[in-house]
Amino acid sequence: MPHVITQSCCNDASCVFACPVNCIHPSPDEPEFATSEMLYIDPVACVDCGACVSACPVGAISAASKLDSRQLPFIEINASYYPKRPAEVKLPPTSKLAPVIPAAEVHARRHPLTVAIVGSGPAALYAADELLVQPRVHVNVFEKLPTPYGLIRTGVAPDHPDTKRVATLFDRVARHDRFRFYLNVEIGKHLTHTDLLAHHHAVLYAVGASHDRRLDIEGMGLPGTGTATELVAWINGHPAFADLPVDLGRERVVIIGNGNVALDVARMLTTDPAELARTDISDHALQALRRSAVREVVIAARRGPAHSAFTLPELVGLTAACAVVLNPDDHQRVLDDLATASARLTKAKLEILSTLGDASDATARPRIQLAYQLTPERVLGQARATGVEFSVTGTDERRRLDAGLVLTSIGYRAKRLRDLPFAEPAAVVPNDGGRVIDPDTRQVVPGAYVAGWIKRGPTGFIGTNKSCSLQTVQALVADFNAGKLTDPVSKPAELNSLVAARQPQAIDAAGWRAIDAAEILRGRDEGRPRNKFTDVADMIAAAAAARQTPPLRRRLLTRLRALG
Ligand code: NAP
Repeated sequence: MPHVITQSCCNDASCVFACPVNCIHPSPDEPEFATSEMLYIDPVACVDCGACVSACPVGAISAASKLDSRQLPFIEINASYYPKRPAEVKLPPTSKLAPVIPAAEVHARRHPLTVAIVGSGPAALYAADELLVQPRVHVNVFEKLPTPYGLIRTGVAPDHPDTKRVATLFDRVARHDRFRFYLNVEIGKHLTHTDLLAHHHAVLYAVGASHDRRLDIEGMGLPGTGTATELVAWINGHPAFADLPVDLGRERVVIIGNGNVALDVARMLTTDPAELARTDISDHALQALRRSAVREVVIAARRGPAHSAFTLPELVGLTAACAVVLNPDDHQRVLDDLATASARLTKAKLEILSTLGDASDATARPRIQLAYQLTPERVLGQARATGVEFSVTGTDERRRLDAGLVLTSIGYRAKRLRDLPFAEPAAVVPNDGGRVIDPDTRQVVPGAYVAGWIKRGPTGFIGTNKSCSLQTVQALVADFNAGKLTDPVSKPAELNSLVAARQPQAIDAAGWRAIDAAEILRGRDEGRPRNKFTDVADMIAAAAAARQTPPLRRRLLTRLRALG
């Protein structure tokens, strides 16, 4: 039986490189890789060796014979990527990606390559991983929160633990002896770009897109309105969103936009809290969901079913886990689109949509309604949101939906960074393959690089960042080898003194491990993978425990446990 890639595929292509027979596609050097929703194993070429299973950081691959019933659709999803052909016809080998050339010691006394990475999400840690493969390269990672890993911790839905498993890979990177964490240190506040360049050859910004796109219609901003990305951060215990006012006191929530974030939020709002209680969801969100009166979440898209922004694996996961319905008009739209669709993925999504239940049928549990052709015109309500008025896209017809909570889910958006150029409307740092470009002179800004969403915009999956970061690291190392990067003027030890002077509460890798251990301990008695701290002061206290003598440390841990 061949192996099969399932829903939690992170697209980082580790499996592609591990596969001895090149049966996993698209590979990073194939054009479809950039936009592919997942990777696929060719059932004809697979030799069933299991190398991909060990390489996959998120446990997304298993033998077809070991899939559970909810994963069975992935056998056909994998196979349908490849043309039907006889077993003896194998795909031609491809080159995969060129490795990073080693950082040469151009001059015998030259300072070994030292790189500052700003941000600690997937793009940052994949870049660190690539750099540390080389001898003598040093990497310092700066993160404004006391905890690392960006959206792995604060963005991935709590009921997707497999996706979060990539953090184990990042923990391994962070244990490297030439890697240092400077957590709870904000670049632009505690240190500047110039400070970093004085201590490093290069600064690689992998800060993601921390804001969201806003919908400029009347009524947005009223109590009872917000964004799905804020709600995700609240659910995941991001300290900046712990006090977000989330009113789940009415029957219906409307989400505008139908990307994967909208699906994540709808799933969280309709899943039995008893199930969520076994995840690392924040305590405040779990309590609020236990009291929730929400019975229906409507996900409203402005276009038709064939243009749904969610991906096929996430749709498969949603329909397996939740009650999902369509109204009769939308059922008809699905059938009309199905009659004309030709793209493989679109057809597969439409086929699943065509099997969904009818919105007029009552469901015992809270449900999700996927709605189409609805352009948001205004939020209804005076003192607070009471619903949304839509136009049926392309017509003058109006539709109103009552709702106690109205969330927009129309994409993330990066914030302008101090000291770096910024390109609108894409909201990215202008760059050429990761080298930052000054838009006025079209010249490279020496020593400045970008990777991840700040480089290419908020698209793709966790693993998409691996090849994105690799490209940037290749450019950075080539520049170092060509003598284009200036040696740091300060000694490595001076960086620690500078950080300590500017941010006495900086947290290092040992501090993070102490926070991690304390959270896991707090969750253990409740049968949860962890119970997260949501207050920065508690995180700092937990990190401080790592620096205490054993008896005091024990007392502190006991206190922290009591806090939970
Ligand atoms: P997204 O996939 O870009 O979806 C944005 C949605 O907003 C689309 O439905 C879009 O509709 C709609 N929209 C945009 N402007 C609008 C407007 N003015 N009025 C009404 N609707 C509007 O964004 P996302 O869901 O935030 O996801 C961001 C990225 O993270 C994606 O690459 C996603 O796949 C990824 N992600 C992945 C996972 C996962 O793999 N599990 C989970 C979460 C996020 P149109 O198509 O009509 O423009």
